[in-house]
Amino acid sequence: MPQKLKILIAAAEAAPLAKVGGLGDVIGALPKALAKLNLDVRIIIPFYEAIDRKKYKIGFLKSIIINSDSRTYQQVDLWQTKLPGSAIPVYLIEHDYFKGENIYSSKLNNKIHKLYPCNPDDISKFIFFSLAVIESIKCLDFKPDIIHLNDWHTAPIALYLKSVYQSDNFFNNIKTLLTIHNLANQGITNSGRVNSNNFNSNFPSIKSDLEDGNINFMAQGIINADLINTVSPTYAKEILTKKFGCGLDKMLSKRKNNLFGILNGLDHNFFNPTKDKYLRQRYSLKTLKGKSINKVALQKKLGLPVDKNIAVISLISRLVWQKGVDLVNSELIEAINKPDGSCQFVILGMGEEIYEKKLKLLNKKYTHLVKIQIKFDELLAHLIYAASDIFLMPSRFEPCGLGQMIAMQYGTIPLVYPTGGLIDTVNPLEQNKTSSGHKNEEDGFIFQEFSTKGLSRVLRLALDIYYHDKKKWRSLQINGMKKDFSWENSAKEYLRLYKKIV
Ligand code: ADP
Repeated sequence: MPQKLKILIAAAEAAPLAKVGGLGDVIGALPKALAKLNLDVRIIIPFYEAIDRKKYKIGFLKSIIINSDSRTYQQVDLWQTKLPGSAIPVYLIEHDYFKGENIYSSKLNNKIHKLYPCNPDDISKFIFFSLAVIESIKCLDFKPDIIHLNDWHTAPIALYLKSVYQSDNFFNNIKTLLTIHNLANQGITNSGRVNSNNFNSNFPSIKSDLEDGNINFMAQGIINADLINTVSPTYAKEILTKKFGCGLDKMLSKRKNNLFGILNGLDHNFFNPTKDKYLRQRYSLKTLKGKSINKVALQKKLGLPVDKNIAVISLISRLVWQKGVDLVNSELIEAINKPDGSCQFVILGMGEEIYEKKLKLLNKKYTHLVKIQIKFDELLAHLIYAASDIFLMPSRFEPCGLGQMIAMQYGTIPLVYPTGGLIDTVNPLEQNKTSSGHKNEEDGFIFQEFSTKGLSRVLRLALDIYYHDKKKWRSLQINGMKKDFSWENSAKEYLRLYKKIV
C-alpha cells in the first residue's frame, strides 16, 4: 500500500480548543476533511493556559530541551489529545510563553488601520513556538512530508527550515505550504530579533528585509514557503494589488505562480441549525418557523421587546477597522427605523476600544432597538445566527469570512460589502431588477457604496422584502441554507497543492 501523505498543520488557534476567529474554525475543521482523503494529518498548537486540559483529555507526551537563542536552553513539554469528534492527533507545546488568559497578548491601539498592530510579546511567543514545532518533530514518531503553516505566527518555520536547519539532513525533505488567512496581520518587529533568535542575518531574505530596520515574518513566510495560498480565489487576486496588498503586493506578485486561492469551508456539524445544541429550537429548511422561537428566546435573553415578527439585524465580529463596524451608527439606526420598517439590532463582538465605546453609546441611546454584547460567546453567537433575519458584514476587506456562510446555513440573509471571500460566497439579489427578473439563485444582498448611507439604502430594500415579499424572502433563505459550504471540495484542492509540493 502506498504511504499516506503526512501533513503537520501548525497554527496559533484550533477550534474548539483555542479560538479567537476564523483561523481557529479553519484549523478545527479542515483536518477532518483531509483525513477523509486518506492523509495522515495532525495539528500542533501552543498549549495555552486557557485550554481546558480535563475537558479535552490532554495527556503528557514528553519534555524536550530547545536551544532558543545562542545562549539559552529551555524546556518545553509536549502534550497530546485528539481533535474533538475525530481521531486526529493534536500536539500541544507547553511553555511559560503561553500562560495567561488570552491567546494573543493585550491589544495595542491600531494607528495604521490597514495593518493590525503586533504586540512584541506575541512576536517572542510565536517565534519560540515555531522553533519548538521544528524541534518537536525530531522527538515525535511522525515526520511530516509537509508542514502546513498558517499566518505569520508559524511562518518563521519556513525561514528556519530554509536557513538555520538547511544543513540538518533530517529536515531536507520537509516542505512547507503557507496559508495566508489575513495579509493585514504580518508580525513585524525590529531587527534585534534576528540575532536574539538565532536567525542568520546574512541569509538573503533576511538581509533584504532588514533594509528598513524591521523584520516581517509574513514576508519571510511568503519568500521561503514552497507554496502559498490564501482563503478565497478573489482575495488571492486582490492581494496582488496595491489596495489590498498591505505593502507585500510586489513580493506576492513575484510568487504569483505559486500563489493559490482556496475557499474556506464550514464545519457543518458545528454550524448546523438541525443539530445545534446551543439553540432554543432546532430547525431545518422545512421547519423554518423554528427561527422565530429562537428570536423570542434571544429577545428575552437580551431584554429586547419581544416580537416574533420584527426584523432582527445582527452582526457578530471582531470590532476592528477591517470589519467596517463604524458603519453601524446613529445615522444607520435613524435611517432604518422609519415607521414602515422598524427592526432591532443585535451586535456581538469585542475588539478595539474605540469601537466598543461607540457601540456601547449606541446601546444606551437606543435601548429598545439595539443590544450590544461586548464579549466572546460561542453559545450566544449560535443563537444570534439562528434568531436573526439579516446578518451584516460590511468588511472593508475580507480574506474569506465565515460569518456570512454561517448566517446562510441558518436561513439568515447576509448583507455584505463585495470584497474578497464575500464576493465568492454571496450570490446577491440584483437590486435593480423587478421581482420577475431575478435569477432565483440569490441568497444575499450587497452594498456598493462603502458608507452608512450606502449600507442603509440596501438595508431598507432588504427590510422591504422581509416585510412585504415573504415568498422572495423565503427563496433567499432556502438558497442560502441549501448552499454547500462543506470542506470536502476545498480539502480536495488542498490535497492538489500538497501533491504539487512533494
Ligand atoms: P475573522 O477570522 O476575521 O475574525 P471570520 O468571519 O472569518 O472573521 O470568522 C469569525 C468567526 O468568529 C466566526 O465563527 C464568528 O461567528 C466568530 N466570532 C467572532 N466574534 C465572536 C464573538 N464575539 N463571540 C463568538 N463568536 C465570534
